[in-house]
Amino acid sequence: MNISVLGTGYVGLVSGLCLSTVGHNVICVDNDKSKVEKLNSGIPTIHEYGLPGLLKENLGKNFFVTSDLNDAIAKSELTIVAVGTPFDGKKIDLKYIEQASKDIAEILKTIGRYHVVVVKSTVVPGTTTGIVKETIEKYSNLKAGQDFGLGMNPEFLREGVAINDFNNPDRIVVGGIDDKSISFISNIYQKYTQDGVPLVACNCQTAEMIKYTSNSFFAMLISYANEIDVVCNSLKEVNSIDVLNGLILDKRIKDPSLSSPPEMAGYLKAGAGFGGSCFPKDVKALASFCSYHGISTPILDSILETNKNRHKVIIDILSRYYSDLSNLKIGVLGLSFKAETDDVRESKSIELIKDISGLVKRFNVFDPQAMNEAQKVLVEQKSKINFYEDSEGVIKDSDVIILMTAWKDFINLPKYLAGRDNLVIDTRAMFNPDMFEKYEGIGYASPNKNH
Ligand code: NAD
Repeated sequence: MNISVLGTGYVGLVSGLCLSTVGHNVICVDNDKSKVEKLNSGIPTIHEYGLPGLLKENLGKNFFVTSDLNDAIAKSELTIVAVGTPFDGKKIDLKYIEQASKDIAEILKTIGRYHVVVVKSTVVPGTTTGIVKETIEKYSNLKAGQDFGLGMNPEFLREGVAINDFNNPDRIVVGGIDDKSISFISNIYQKYTQDGVPLVACNCQTAEMIKYTSNSFFAMLISYANEIDVVCNSLKEVNSIDVLNGLILDKRIKDPSLSSPPEMAGYLKAGAGFGGSCFPKDVKALASFCSYHGISTPILDSILETNKNRHKVIIDILSRYYSDLSNLKIGVLGLSFKAETDDVRESKSIELIKDISGLVKRFNVFDPQAMNEAQKVLVEQKSKINFYEDSEGVIKDSDVIILMTAWKDFINLPKYLAGRDNLVIDTRAMFNPDMFEKYEGIGYASPNKNH
């Protein structure tokens, strides 16, 4: 199929590239000309494992990047919309979706043939059959279902393993306004469904809701683990790592015939809270959508409440060790919201730096991939931050080391810290407490606390 993808960010770029490898001709479109230029020079615009090779292999063959939406739609039968859907502080911000719908409509008006529009962005229930359908109909004078098809196909890829996730989907959800749209959209994924990947065909609102249900569920597991950690910390010598490991061994979670724990176990772990471009904004968007419609959602609300101040456990630890923080040089390892990505959106690391920058002397920071992105969002704090080229430098020049992201690169931390007595605050419980002179791992009972 000839496919155009509107929005060439984490989702649009990875989806477009992967679809080009299963036989489709894909044109990715972005209105950010610098992204288009970079990609057309073969330079990836995001850090994602496997992306440089995939781009090199497919660019100019059956994968193209442009800022000319007109040309892309004219050359395709189906357009995937993968623009951002941020949270504006009160509700989901659909301005990019609305603009994309308008842009598509203006072009559909002129091409004079059936074309299918698929929303891949995460949008609150009712968006595809509401704002998207109404905007396209209004600006094209065409009729959905008759002149153009419309559907919703949520994306479940995770940054850091996005290409692997896209190539090995666990399910494909296709919502559509009619059977023709569903069948058109399902055809994109024929290669996967033929290999046995389940296809969930449904209406657009169900598809929209599946995505939110999924993200809220995993965010809920994280907040649950963090709340259990708070309880464990108030008890004598109980650590949430042991407690949650005890839970995971339940045969309803871990199949006893398998040696490794289920992937879900990774979310049942205490830490500094969840960040990123999806969980926070999606739970907030669903909760605010429900509140607007008078639907009570105490569970969704508490996921956010628990997460909101979670990084404050780090401040509590610092305050336990130091009565005065004003002379401290804080080393922060990891700035992206999780390992294997350069994405710093709603990163807890960034939140922590912003929160305590008025309290401490300096920050020495390093991230293997997110330095550029971090510099863009830490403008106000810039005068207090030294950006390092490696973790060794950070360790050498800091009093406290806070490990925020579980990058593999940080595995050498015990070696670099040998013979030093810096306080290590490990928010990912990457290490054992006995590997350091002074260690506080979130999830471990603190040796330095009066219970
Ligand atoms: P992103 O911000 O990385 O990318 C969005 C891109 O759209 C940007 O490059 C922007 O320039 C472009 N854009 C915006 N308006 C445009 C327009 N009118 N014409 C052309 N280009 C336009 O966003 P993302 O992380 O890829 O997320 C996209 C959507 O997918 C969101 O709704 C998100 O919630 C959802 N999602 C994201 C992930 C993830 O891990 N990032 C996973 C699943 C779903």
